[in-house]
Amino acid sequence: MNSLAATRRLFEATDLEPVLARSVTVLGSTGSIGVSTLDVVAHARKAYGEHAMPVEAITAQGRVDDLIAQARAVRPRLAVIGDDRHYAALKEGLAGTGIEAAAGRAAIIEAAARNSDTVMVAIMGAAALEPALAAVARSATVALANKECIVAAGGVFGRALANSAAAVIPVDSEHNAVFQVLNGESAKEVEKVTLTASGGPFRDKTLQDMAVATPEQAVAHPNWSMGAKISVDSATLMNKGLELIEAHFLFALPPEKLDVLVHPQSIVHCLVSYEDGTTLAHLSAPDMRTPIAHALAWPRRISSPSRRLDLAAVGQLNFRKPDHERFRCLGLAMQAMRTGALAPTILNAANEIAVDAFLNRRIGFLDIARVVEETLSESPEANTPADTLDGVLAADKRARELAEGVCRRAVN
Ligand code: NDP
Ligand code: MG
Repeated sequence: MNSLAATRRLFEATDLEPVLARSVTVLGSTGSIGVSTLDVVAHARKAYGEHAMPVEAITAQGRVDDLIAQARAVRPRLAVIGDDRHYAALKEGLAGTGIEAAAGRAAIIEAAARNSDTVMVAIMGAAALEPALAAVARSATVALANKECIVAAGGVFGRALANSAAAVIPVDSEHNAVFQVLNGESAKEVEKVTLTASGGPFRDKTLQDMAVATPEQAVAHPNWSMGAKISVDSATLMNKGLELIEAHFLFALPPEKLDVLVHPQSIVHCLVSYEDGTTLAHLSAPDMRTPIAHALAWPRRISSPSRRLDLAAVGQLNFRKPDHERFRCLGLAMQAMRTGALAPTILNAANEIAVDAFLNRRIGFLDIARVVEETLSESPEANTPADTLDGVLAADKRARELAEGVCRRAVN
């Protein structure tokens, strides 16, 4: 990304102090990534002193009690709750602390726009797009966990980056791994980037099993503990499809240079193969606190509370090709990546609606792929260029309405 070289020069030659003094805003602090981020911050304060990693702002959507407890523990200047019905509770919970309280969607975007060195974008879904763009516009360092905003608006996001001095450090484990392997070099001599997929809880299940899978079974991921939406995406392999599109935009890699391998142990996170036959891999225990700590301290490294890799205990590393017949979402995402234009926006919006309908028991597990496929084929604008934020937001809205209609038909 554009200003990575400048950021690297600024911090590489110095000791850790300037890195630890960088202030952090955490968008989506009450979620799985948000909690892990605050754990990394708490660990840094224990390891390096209470002054480490001052927190500017934290935001949540509905879990106001969790937000209050987090604010009292990490002492940000500002805490924001997206759902403004919780404003009174937030204000009362923070009384006497000196921490500012705010509520509503606009306040979340303002929190991202407020002065801090790093913004961790850990909101779920395309709802992260405008807050992430607000951080980019003021040239913050953006630690990007959210993938839906890149899938929905990769071109718009890329142009916003080119027009600012912002740097993006990917947090999604596979992309953080690719970022580390590339180490600032261009991807020009790269022949292929392979992202690994655990295969999720239904890796070895039959289509008959999957047809009757419950939300509880789908979110019970074998290796990672994550929010409900991404857990379902892992079970359908849509998560890996979204990640291919994310890598396509983040590293400017054409679709034919991107590949997926199922790797049940989730130890190798990426493989980068070069034109001379070299393949470099990135390994770590499956614990998001590792890429989070890397992103918060880049280009230095800090002590992190994450699990350590014990290869002797793991014993074996296995790899196999994904099964496109059982996991149709992966192929749908690959097709949308090749189509480009608004197809990834529509794919992402339809998937968000379908996953929500599945989690609320309105459609079956295998219907998720059906909803995404039918929404894409019913969308006349899949081939329209995704040039502007307004165009992307309008397509996202229309795709959600279409997908709702397909969900309703799926149960009738
Ligand atoms: P969670 O569902 O656990 O947390 C989501 C966070 O976003 C919560 O703080 C939630 O608030 C907030 N939020 C939800 N909806 C909105 C909204 N409309 N506007 C503002 N804030 C909102 O998700 P995860 O932490 O699992 O994932 C976050 C992002 O990171 C996703 O894009 C995911 O794909 C990506 N990611 C996650 C990984 C993981 O291991 N979990 C790994 C790699 C990427 P509240 O708690 O109040 O509802
Ligand atoms: Mg990932």
